[in-house]
Amino acid sequence: MQVFNIKPIKSRHILASVTALSLVFSVLFLPACTEQIASESNDLYENELYDIEATSPAENVIVAVGDVMLSRDVGAIIWATGDPRAPFLETVEILEEADITFCNLESPFYEEERLNGDRLVFGADPEAIEGLKYAGFDIVSLANNHFGDQGTDGMSFTLSHLTENGIGYSGAGENEVTAREPFIIEQNGVKFAFLAYNDVKSAIRKGYAATADRPGFAVLSRSNLKQDIQYAREKAHIVVVSIHWGTEYEETPTERQITYAHLAIDYGASLVLGHHPHVIQPVEEYNDGYIFYSLGNFVFDQMWSEETRIGLIARIFFENERIEKVETIQITIYDSHQPQVSDGDF
Ligand SMILES: [Zn+2]
Repeated sequence: MQVFNIKPIKSRHILASVTALSLVFSVLFLPACTEQIASESNDLYENELYDIEATSPAENVIVAVGDVMLSRDVGAIIWATGDPRAPFLETVEILEEADITFCNLESPFYEEERLNGDRLVFGADPEAIEGLKYAGFDIVSLANNHFGDQGTDGMSFTLSHLTENGIGYSGAGENEVTAREPFIIEQNGVKFAFLAYNDVKSAIRKGYAATADRPGFAVLSRSNLKQDIQYAREKAHIVVVSIHWGTEYEETPTERQITYAHLAIDYGASLVLGHHPHVIQPVEEYNDGYIFYSLGNFVFDQMWSEETRIGLIARIFFENERIEKVETIQITIYDSHQPQVSDGDF
């Protein structure tokens, strides 16, 4: 497992080159897919999957961004401007034009009283959800190290607040079973299953992980990944796995990130969306899938370095269940809250 297997799309590279990168996938693995469809046809017939084979190709685009934090300085700006849309005003067109739009939601919502602490205790005003709706987010990951910052009530409220506002979530639930369930979105006849896991150990020690009878996030483990992806593959054509992991401010993925990313693809996922380091990490094409080790920040107030102000918008183009190509668009965050597409001259 060597890092040199990874395509070296590092932030400086991206800064120095064009903002969009296209990688066209070979069609050579199509026969393999067809074989798998045939061998699983009994199960899949019951779930009414694979109707997409017979018709003209269904084209779908997932747009994914990294950490979105609507608390701290971002929250203060939303409060001061009175406009929850403020963080998304400059990127809304790219976000909402996608068939499915994803982010890691790094801040839970508080219901009435905010639990306070130092600057590392996040809690977003419930009204801030209007920004996520405006930007067209369909699905967010909640499996991250801040999900429990507003306590058990804050976790439960965040789950219900998202549902009531028509935004899906994965990687968290009222108990461990529901936290590990895939969230399925059907677009143009294709079913996408979203799973999400936290791998930041400090949050597990704080008790933010879901248990048999307590809300929380899903924990990354080999067995969870294998079981959940296999289950999701029975329910959907495409499995997307979001993982909150790695080392903060490190531009290189750890051996552990690489191992688990490869496992996710080996178990049947098509796409791994990583976040938490707050800086961009490489993108890897691995077998039939793509791995974004860290998409970096998207809405965050870490203005103290060039690297923490830069993030990626990933666009993944699907034809039926095959990834046709991926693109990345670089953003730079301005004024502690607002990403704008950047030309690399920043
Ligand atoms: Zn984090």
